[in-house]
Amino acid sequence: MDKIWVAFALVGSMHGARLVSGDFGKTREGTPVRIYTLTNKHGVEATITNYGGRVVSLKVPDKKGAMGDMVLGFDSIDGYLNENPYFGALIGRYANRIGHAQFTLDGVLYKVPKNDGDNSLHGGTRGFDKVVWTAREMKDGRLELSYLSKDGEEGYPGNCTVTVVYHLTDTNELKIDYTASTDKDTVVNLTNHSYFNLKGEGDILGHLLTLNADSFTPVDGGLIPTGELKPVAGTPFDFRKATAIGARIEQNDEQLKLGKGYDHNWVLNKKGAELSMAARVEEPENGRVMEVWTTQPGIQFYTGNFLDGTIKGKGGRVYARRSALCLETQHFPDSPNKPKFPAVVLKPGMEFKSTTIYKFAR
Ligand code: BGC
Repeated sequence: MDKIWVAFALVGSMHGARLVSGDFGKTREGTPVRIYTLTNKHGVEATITNYGGRVVSLKVPDKKGAMGDMVLGFDSIDGYLNENPYFGALIGRYANRIGHAQFTLDGVLYKVPKNDGDNSLHGGTRGFDKVVWTAREMKDGRLELSYLSKDGEEGYPGNCTVTVVYHLTDTNELKIDYTASTDKDTVVNLTNHSYFNLKGEGDILGHLLTLNADSFTPVDGGLIPTGELKPVAGTPFDFRKATAIGARIEQNDEQLKLGKGYDHNWVLNKKGAELSMAARVEEPENGRVMEVWTTQPGIQFYTGNFLDGTIKGKGGRVYARRSALCLETQHFPDSPNKPKFPAVVLKPGMEFKSTTIYKFAR
């Protein structure tokens, strides 16, 4: 390397967060899409596209310092434009399921798209994962994405403005700040749907998981919560102590059968909306650790049960069943129809705010 470039590289690496952007192609309608690379002073790197606000790659070191990409996805925009299960995406207007694809708000019945049997999943047919967000590169290396979801879009009431800020900190955190406001009463549930594999490939059954939750929300056959908060004690849903994900996944348990594995919402132990640790994942062989911190009341732990090897991802790799896990911080599924669950109604003049951090050991 030329001396000048060595000097530049050193200065760059000493200065913490950096953000550079490039072309990522076009949507089928011809809208240009960009890709943004966030780098911190340890060389940890996240790439994010404004198509669906998706985390495309997340490169972190293992205990020997070897960098590896921790998320599933595609090398180019085409993979994301084709059918795929929300790889890396921002999810809204309502993340997770709404039973019978309808809810009543202020006495009005709203119908949203049925895209999961009789239910609505992850915002409908064209949710926030399939739209182009407006990006703003901030001077301090953060990336701001915003999107106006119009009144009536996918059946939801109110013009809803959503802003998401991605920040890769020098303490190896991918921090995601969400805000939303509306001009008419609506329901909002926002999350990120990254599929993690701390080995980079293979299955995730040996990952050790801790979930800071004494109860979870059992579901019916359509994966809609019954409304009950069920204690995890004595069930395969007890992850209060670090346990291998595969240790109990095949047990003869009604809830595991309904989810075809883990695909449930855990009720986080917390007082209110404080930022607290929800989950910790450790890969025992390579020493990678990821903690999930959030202000949200729940977390969907999903073990990639519906990945079936038909999708070819990065480098032509086939994404098999249980080759990744999702930890989607959220309000509980079907809350618009469950008055006893924490409220998800957003009113004009209010601001929805939440923060989730995916933190990697240094
Ligand atoms: C849901 C799964 C679904 C997956 C991809 C998760 O959030 O809980 O049931 O298959 O998203 O669509």
